Amino acid sequence: MSEKLIYLDYNATTPCDPRVVEAMLPWFTDNPGNAASRSHPAGWKAEEAVKIAREAVADLIDAAPEEIVFTSGATEAVNLALKGVFEAYISKGRHIVTLATEHKAVLDTCRHLEKMGAEVTYLPVQPDGLLDLEILKSAIRPDTILVAVMWANNETGVIQDMEAIGKICAEKETLLFSDATQAAGKIEINPRQAGVHLMAFSAHKMYGPKGVGALYVSRRDPRVKIIAQIDGGGHERGMRSGTLNVPGIAGFGKAAQIAKMEMPQDAARLLALRNLLEASILKNVESVFVNGNRERRLAHVSNLAFKFVESESLMMSFNRNLAVASGSACTSASLEPSHVLLAMGLSDHLAHASIRFSLGKYTTEAEIQFVIETVKAGVEHLRSLSPVWEMYKEGVDVDALL
Ligand SMILES: *Cc1c(COP(=O)(O)O)cnc(C)c1O
Repeated sequence: MSEKLIYLDYNATTPCDPRVVEAMLPWFTDNPGNAASRSHPAGWKAEEAVKIAREAVADLIDAAPEEIVFTSGATEAVNLALKGVFEAYISKGRHIVTLATEHKAVLDTCRHLEKMGAEVTYLPVQPDGLLDLEILKSAIRPDTILVAVMWANNETGVIQDMEAIGKICAEKETLLFSDATQAAGKIEINPRQAGVHLMAFSAHKMYGPKGVGALYVSRRDPRVKIIAQIDGGGHERGMRSGTLNVPGIAGFGKAAQIAKMEMPQDAARLLALRNLLEASILKNVESVFVNGNRERRLAHVSNLAFKFVESESLMMSFNRNLAVASGSACTSASLEPSHVLLAMGLSDHLAHASIRFSLGKYTTEAEIQFVIETVKAGVEHLRSLSPVWEMYKEGVDVDALL
């Protein structure tokens, strides 16, 4: 078992479901058509494949197929939504409201828009990662054109109350965007019902291929306008030009179809495994804390803070047997403490002591048992070397030293 990598980083990316790969293969070789070629059967076939995939992707979120714009992934979909709305609604206002705990795709796009003249309010979150709705209400102004709130957080799995947020945005007559990259295909989401007008998601977070995603854009009540950010042949009804990634889109469609069918069983199984992992670690290892609201949380995610332990050192102790994330995948290269955990009020020390375990449909109970033992051994070893831990055990108040 120790030879094989245990992959618990499904929030960074998921492997493709073999059924997805199978659905993609014909579009690489046997059927080479460009979905925009109207003059021959190869083009028509590709167009038909895209149509079927668009229906499956729309069906997953209970949208109309015309409300789906295919992109290269969630990052592009986020850029298209935020920049596209800013350009389209600039005569109404320049104010955007978002959360401090958003993914970098949203935060960096907001930074860019600030340079273009936008005013952005970054709302704090509560210690459990949830948005305080009163704070949202008071942040929305007459010139607010967009509120951007992620559906589920990639680092903690915390699920925002999108229906309540949608109601507030409807009352205040502002558009609502949601980055649902971690929620789509994992929990039931319905943007129209939640009052979400634009929503980004991605195939490779739901057992589809990398490099394909979608933006949902509401077509009625209200009909949302966005300005294209990539110009060219007018594909995707003018909202996103460029030859469609037919194999990728076919795979995305298959992944959406599978998710729709299997999501409830997968989530129930993963909830049990995640709870086993979490409960066993909390029981067997001292001074461990769960980051984020424990109820309003994706079933497959556990973000734990191991006090007095550097998560990077702990990961090193796993000897490359175990793939997990310290902080978010995007910030772990820079070794900055996670902006999400800091926004939830964790100290730099606790943020640096945190590890995200994200399970997926190929995770087994035997793997989880191995992970429990590995984590326990790693933490005990590192603490046995730590003078701060020793002082803590002797009763010294060490928090000031951290
Ligand atoms: C992974 C992720 C993204 C980026 O998605 P890509 O398809 O890789 O561009 C954006 N937001 C969240 C919440 C994510 O988890």
